[in-house]
Amino acid sequence: MVRTRFAPSPTGNIHIGGLRTALYAYALAKHNKGEFILRIEDTDKKREVEGATEKIKELLNLFGLIWDEYFIQSERVKSGIYKKAAEKLVKEGHAYYCQHEGRNAKKEGFSKELRDSCRDKNLTSGAIKLRVPDNEKVSFKDFVVGKEISWNTSDVADATLLKSDGFPTYHLAVVVDDNDMKVSHVLRGHDWMPSTPIHLLVHKYLGFKLPEIGHLTDILDPEGGKLSKRKGSTSVEGLLKEGYLPSALLNYVCLLGWAPKNNQEIFSLEEFVAMFDPKGFQKSNPVFDRAKLDWMNGEYIRKADLEGFIRMLKSESSGFSEELLKKIAPLIKDRIKKLSEFGNYTRFFIEEPTVEKKLLGPNSKKHLEAAKKALDKIKKWDLEEINEVLMEAVKDNGFKIGDFFMDLRIAVTGTRFTPPINDSIVILGKDTTLKRLSKVT
Ligand code: GLU
Repeated sequence: MVRTRFAPSPTGNIHIGGLRTALYAYALAKHNKGEFILRIEDTDKKREVEGATEKIKELLNLFGLIWDEYFIQSERVKSGIYKKAAEKLVKEGHAYYCQHEGRNAKKEGFSKELRDSCRDKNLTSGAIKLRVPDNEKVSFKDFVVGKEISWNTSDVADATLLKSDGFPTYHLAVVVDDNDMKVSHVLRGHDWMPSTPIHLLVHKYLGFKLPEIGHLTDILDPEGGKLSKRKGSTSVEGLLKEGYLPSALLNYVCLLGWAPKNNQEIFSLEEFVAMFDPKGFQKSNPVFDRAKLDWMNGEYIRKADLEGFIRMLKSESSGFSEELLKKIAPLIKDRIKKLSEFGNYTRFFIEEPTVEKKLLGPNSKKHLEAAKKALDKIKKWDLEEINEVLMEAVKDNGFKIGDFFMDLRIAVTGTRFTPPINDSIVILGKDTTLKRLSKVT
């Protein structure tokens, strides 16, 4: 049975890389009719952020990454499993008690002097550290990277396994739990790779069967280096706030390091699960390409039916009545790429715009006078009439059509980017339109 887990620490927001880990772990399990576990790794109480666990669950639910089993590591401490494992390692000579329990493995372990000064003091209490052997090879075959990765243990730290307060560190808890929960495949971000030799040793010394282990590629920033927040959010919550749809965001994340055989780009979670194959993991680091995400989000908006689209707009459209929204939605559905653009395109429907005169063209006075005159005589305020009288005005006065409509657009809406102007004028109504024109002329 394939069993995978998503094992976040509740130390802050889930970022795009975390969502990707969860998604791939979910798909790997579900593709194989297996089980997906959510395990909250909260043994480092100092770093825990209040509410983070709830947020993680909320987001996974939102994306449909529903777990079959749920564990909170700190609640498992009471059962004594971690302590028992650590003590077994001490008893068998693979770990030792130590007063010094620094948590930064690199700092504590790489100095041989520091390491030796801790070892073999024959203490019987304190923190418990792994006794890493000298000059042995540890290795495993990474099922994402697709090759063997090895270390010389002389380069590996004597990592702390159990702190003096009885809480396990990540290194111990992850191994004990992966074994206890019968995790068959471990998937995690590439930045965890330095911990892997420690886990390999702990697995071996505890006599556990090693799961398949895979490290996902780093997600790169378009401007080079690892993904950063320079241009917009990289947290999942932030991206949702920016106006990306969960379905589009998840679809985009599917392709951040994995590709289907047939190059299909748009698919649902169910379709992704059905075609998921670890052979599709790409070896090179993907770039977080916002333009592509925008494009994909636009595709999802266009795919939605009008009612669905109106529902999506709920959080963006306070101040708009249901009736007004129904009229505006068809005009912008094919234009916007992100829901958050809704306000920029449509605010003029509910707010009188401030018109910056410098946006208007040199002939705006003539254009707007003619438009006002033409619109004023309309009896039946509909699109057909409006089109007709305005085109007549353009022809009769020999105006340049583009310039005329741009001035009209700016005078009525205050901006250059709006839904089709004549349709907008129909919705605004005669009074409002004429009033706005009078104000500018
Ligand atoms: N708790 C680690 C994290 O926050 C889990 C790493 C792993 O999956 O082993 O990502």
